[in-house]
Amino acid sequence: MARVVVVGAGIVGAASAYRLAERGLEVLLLEKEATFAQGSTGRSAAGVRVQFSEPLNVLLSYHSILEYQRIPEAAYRPTGYLFLVPEALREAQEEALRTQKALGVPVERLSLEEARKRVPFREEGLAFATYGPMDGTIDPHGATAFYLREARRLGAEVRFSEAFLSARREGGLWRVETPKGRYEAPYLLLATGAWTGEVGRRLGLEIPIYPVRRMVFATAPAPFPHAFPLTIDLATGFYLRSEGLRLLFGRSNPKEPPGFREGMDWSWLGPTLEAGLARFPFLEGLSLDPRASWWGYYEVTPDHNPILGFVEEGLLVAAGFSGHGVQQAAMVGRLMAEEVAYGQAQTLDIGPFRLSRFREGKPLRERGIV
Ligand SMILES: Cc1cc2nc3c(=O)[nH]c(=O)nc-3n(C[C@H](O)[C@H](O)[C@H](O)COP(=O)(O)OP(=O)(O)OC[C@H]3O[C@@H](n4cnc5c(N)ncnc54)[C@H](O)[C@@H]3O)c2cc1C
Repeated sequence: MARVVVVGAGIVGAASAYRLAERGLEVLLLEKEATFAQGSTGRSAAGVRVQFSEPLNVLLSYHSILEYQRIPEAAYRPTGYLFLVPEALREAQEEALRTQKALGVPVERLSLEEARKRVPFREEGLAFATYGPMDGTIDPHGATAFYLREARRLGAEVRFSEAFLSARREGGLWRVETPKGRYEAPYLLLATGAWTGEVGRRLGLEIPIYPVRRMVFATAPAPFPHAFPLTIDLATGFYLRSEGLRLLFGRSNPKEPPGFREGMDWSWLGPTLEAGLARFPFLEGLSLDPRASWWGYYEVTPDHNPILGFVEEGLLVAAGFSGHGVQQAAMVGRLMAEEVAYGQAQTLDIGPFRLSRFREGKPLRERGIV
């Protein structure tokens, strides 16, 4: 039985470990933290959506959402994603809509009047809206816990508080070192999220994935009833959604430098609110709850698409989702298991997301990034 060492117990490593074990492979999962989902997975905004511009992103999310629907622990809620499209992006968004419809995923074009029935906003500068009725949220902790439990049930060994230090290829095997032991395996899978660039350097490899801090702001419970879908103003990148009685909102700071910068950057609250209030004036009546707000790392690649599959003999990468990995992990886990079992993923062609696109200077740009 071939052995696979998986590094990282986020949702991607957990889903991969499960699917590899399901195919009868002997799996060892190493995680540097004391438990699972302590990286980006535990800090995501938990959104899932089929509304992307790149066909492979649409399909990875679509198939993953279908899987999350069947896992009670994933607590899938079809609360929807509403994109507000400014005139300047009319063409690009029309094209994305055509791509999504051609792939047969559920997405609707709405007039601004129809969209305003879901969340009140100022229409200035907007052309139309798109709505994904299958989009929504899951519980990333619950899904990760499910995958790990199932992986263990099928014989996978999960070692927490054991960091991957280094590995070298010798005699057709990866010889892996941690502070606690040495392991040998023909396959090594890096599911190390924002840390993948750093881990790659230990293997002498340049893997273009770097951490960028992102924040989610939370209001105190709102004094009015609401059930807002995740609504994105594409003019500014400001988004909001309901979470119980609270609202969550945010906006990516394009000037945030890459790196492991910790904590909330409260200086970004002002520019975030400025964009938010201009589109959603009702926010003025809400107070911020600083203790319920949080930060985490996006695991960013130069084209905002993940790096998937073999990068050299016996070495696989499944990382760099650039802020949309929770919603793609289920399918990525299956594809990584196929990649090991057959030498190449079968259910979807992951060619566009292989590392080679950067080596060949052919990045693909995903436009539907939040
Ligand atoms: C604020 C915010 C909002 C987000 N919102 C969304 C959203 O709405 N929807 C969505 O789909 N995605 C969202 N994301 C992105 C999403 O969280 C990530 O894409 C996803 O969690 C990536 O999962 P992962 O398993 O690849 O990485 P991670 O969850 O980061 O897991 C990597 C694991 O590797 C471990 N590791 C690293 N180095 C080592 C080592 N040397 N040895 C052993 N273990 C190691 C880490 O400790 C970590 O547990 C958001 C992210 C943030 C920060």
